[in-house]
Amino acid sequence: MFQNKKELLVLKRTFLNGYMYFCTANKKSDMFENKDDSRTKISQLGEFGLIDHLTKNFTNTHKSTIKGIGDDAAVLSPEKGEQMVITTDMLVEGVHFDLSYMPLKHLGYKTVMVNLSDVYAMNAVPHQITVSIAISNRFTVEALEEFYAGIATAAKLYNIDVIGGDTSSSTTGLMISVTAIGTASKEKITYRSGAKENDLLVVSGDLGAAYLGLQILEREKKVFEVNPNAQPDLEPYTYLVERQLKPEARQDIPKLLADLEVTPTAMIDISDGLSSEIIHICKNSEVGCNLYEDKIPLDPQVISTCEEFNMDSTTVALNGGEDYELLFTIDTNDYPKIKANPHLTVLGHITDKKEGIHLVTRANTKIPLIARGWNATEEN
Ligand code: ADP
Ligand code: MG
Repeated sequence: MFQNKKELLVLKRTFLNGYMYFCTANKKSDMFENKDDSRTKISQLGEFGLIDHLTKNFTNTHKSTIKGIGDDAAVLSPEKGEQMVITTDMLVEGVHFDLSYMPLKHLGYKTVMVNLSDVYAMNAVPHQITVSIAISNRFTVEALEEFYAGIATAAKLYNIDVIGGDTSSSTTGLMISVTAIGTASKEKITYRSGAKENDLLVVSGDLGAAYLGLQILEREKKVFEVNPNAQPDLEPYTYLVERQLKPEARQDIPKLLADLEVTPTAMIDISDGLSSEIIHICKNSEVGCNLYEDKIPLDPQVISTCEEFNMDSTTVALNGGEDYELLFTIDTNDYPKIKANPHLTVLGHITDKKEGIHLVTRANTKIPLIARGWNATEEN
């Protein structure tokens, strides 16, 4: 999946240190914040100097990138017969991320993943991104270098050209907006609206880990606030924390589906939790669905951590969000092509609209799914 495994490991190591670092940094000397003179103030470079400094190492590798950073606008030349797919996501400090446990390098990486995931969810391949940031003067040049190192790593591993952006000041905090641009043939592009009765509902990977990773980090933040010398032990939660701080977009899935000669009938990425994404597909496709609780794929760390936190793992998978897995529907005739694949799990099937959208529990009870989980008061 990765072109450069070593780079992934470097990032992993940074994330473990980064977590510790950020916890102590916010209380003591913060490398990233502008509290001492050893760091470079953004004003020392000026806006144009800063843009040059942060973007000087980006090179373009795609034939379709005619002009990247450096003019009033980038110029692209999509290949003949391809349609373009464009998506934007905005991340706001204090709303979408907390820098007390999110290292800036990981934030840069995750910002790119969030956008690429939406392109893969169209069964398309991303080739370019733009990156826009608004920064307050509490950030130093070194802090932005870290952030751009994360972006550069993501761009390299996912074969993406960074072709532009915008840089602005903000009164408080950090705001980031990334736009991703991809292409696919008209026949391959997969909308939320194509699911048909009897199609199978399939998901990649496993669910709920990123949400639990966030709970772990929030818990450690509270421990740290009470006792700054406490050293968090993240070892039992490595997978969960990694899924929260360094998610990977499923670039392998559109390729896998192409190799298997399967075109999904509908597809969406799981950013808000399984239940709301199923509802999106069903609403857009005007169909119903039965989702089987016992089929929901869970990592062993999700199961053990749910036990520790006394949480229901189904609730976590349905509502957690930020999994960046792909949820799609396929024609039943395609089932033999995917059934043995370890990356894919069949979770349920599409029904007529009037049958509604239901979770079929382990006890074989049918419960209506609602956008945040299921509605236990409407049992039938
Ligand atoms: P303009 O005044 O036309 O908005 P800028 O000076 O903001 O131009 O940008 C100059 C070039 O640098 C453009 O190609 C723009 O896309 C790119 N750029 C600006 N900010 C960023 C950024 N944060 N990340 C990547 N590229 C950027
Ligand atoms: Mg600009």
